[in-house]
Amino acid sequence: MPETTFNPHEFKAQFPIFDQAENEKLIYVDNAATTQKPQAVIDRLTHFYLYENANAHRASHRLARAATDAIENSRKIIAGFINANDRDIVFCRGTTEGFNLLANGLASQCHAQEEIIITSAEHHANILPWRRLAEQRNMKIRLVPDIDGIPDLSQLASMLSDNTRIVSFTMASNVLGCKLNLESVAQLLKDHPCFYVIDAAQGLGHCPIDVDKLGCDFLVASAHKAYGPLGAGFVYGKQKVLSTLDPYLLGGEMVKSVTLDAAEFNKAPGRFEAGTMQLASIAGFGAAIEFLSQQDREGMHAHEVRLIQHIHKELSSLPAIQLISKPENNLGICTFNIKSDVIEATSGDLAQWLDEHDIAVRVGYHCAQPLYESRALQQGLRISVAGYNTFEDCDKVVRVIREWIDNIEESKTTTTPCSNSILESLQNAKNWQARYKMLMEFGQEERDESIQADDNIIHGCEAKTWLAGSQVDGKYQFITDSESRIIRGLGVLMKHWFNGKDADFIQNFDWETECQKLGLTRHLSASRNNGFRAMILTAQCSVVPTSSDSE
Ligand code: PMP
Repeated sequence: MPETTFNPHEFKAQFPIFDQAENEKLIYVDNAATTQKPQAVIDRLTHFYLYENANAHRASHRLARAATDAIENSRKIIAGFINANDRDIVFCRGTTEGFNLLANGLASQCHAQEEIIITSAEHHANILPWRRLAEQRNMKIRLVPDIDGIPDLSQLASMLSDNTRIVSFTMASNVLGCKLNLESVAQLLKDHPCFYVIDAAQGLGHCPIDVDKLGCDFLVASAHKAYGPLGAGFVYGKQKVLSTLDPYLLGGEMVKSVTLDAAEFNKAPGRFEAGTMQLASIAGFGAAIEFLSQQDREGMHAHEVRLIQHIHKELSSLPAIQLISKPENNLGICTFNIKSDVIEATSGDLAQWLDEHDIAVRVGYHCAQPLYESRALQQGLRISVAGYNTFEDCDKVVRVIREWIDNIEESKTTTTPCSNSILESLQNAKNWQARYKMLMEFGQEERDESIQADDNIIHGCEAKTWLAGSQVDGKYQFITDSESRIIRGLGVLMKHWFNGKDADFIQNFDWETECQKLGLTRHLSASRNNGFRAMILTAQCSVVPTSSDSE
């Protein structure tokens, strides 16, 4: 194996976001959502606005020529990077727009009863445009079966028929990180007159892409997941094939001649680049690809693989963690759930804890809900690495996760303080960590499944949360329950404030000041603050002041 020249520390030094004082300790492992941008890309964006800003492909003055050259130069760089011809690259805003462009553009070539084959591991961007196409053209969507969530492409051959019209696969899942073996797919499709599309959103920044070897008709990707700017992406397709597609956006610069009755559209790629494009981002996209090409990409890939294997190994030893992803054939993503039978807290609670330790991860369904539903999984927590992450980063992430688990385990044995001392205990906590731990302790036993009715659901709370209230002699009593332990803990605080009080007190209670005093506004994540706010406002709106009672 050749000696690697890739050094994550030197690589990281090229990303100025990590030099900002507030980011000194930041561990950014949300790279599957978007990567950070190197100085070279930031400089390219600035250069465009300082020296080239004009509209491209229109006027012939000096600046307009510079802008056009910038775009066409990016097209060449990107085409070269994926072994395509530069006329085969259509610029768009990103993968999502690319799929919409394709689904709309292919509609007139699709017919009733024809089939679109995707896998269960697709991102919504590679599902929803096809779903609408299927509805419009009375087509069917079929899913390649999976083994433990990983698409089993060996089943594809038996699914193909004369009805197969579109086959659209991800290069790598944004939840599982697994890279699909797409090299063999084109061979299987060669006797079927279908369009073969690849979603390379998660591939572009991590592995080499050769459209010739892949044999696909179309490939779609975004700049921002490959160290490039936000707002730029491309659709690859052979110019000959692309020119058979109906244009998605209609408008300026994509048309040869227009009358009120007819229009003759340009050939690809101009046919699909209507209106003023995000020119600076496209120029920056070229710079990102040049930047990537200058790295030891094999070494970087090997480094990312080692990191993700290390994280999987460490987390697999924790009984509270249920890994959703697997380390094998993984481009850099580890996704997991919290085992609710081992600890009573959600991955959202853990994400918040990590954020408090300056570790950026993502929690949710990651725009891949069918994957979660097929395996009956709760929202997952995703750690996704890039070249600038190090083993120290990964060890810290694992250590902070362990601490969180230990804290919760410990709190099982601690008893919740009696109601009078709730506020006192919170106020006297020595720091925010201790206060957070206390709130988690409050949330430990605080369950009441009897109020889990649809009518009691609090809207505006990310985790499912319920609130029920009753009134005796003008004094209110509230009961709360939530899937999130921290929200249950916050419910205890709200009940401490409101239970036994009358409507006037409840409605006039200045909870915002109280939350600030306790540091909740500053330290809790935006989603938890919103959830707590929704709970309080729901309680406040549910009470009826005595004055209006007597009217
Ligand atoms: N496909 C995959 C596999 C993705 O990971 C993403 C982004 N998470 C997309 C498509 C959509 O990309 P974008 O948001 O850049 O349009």
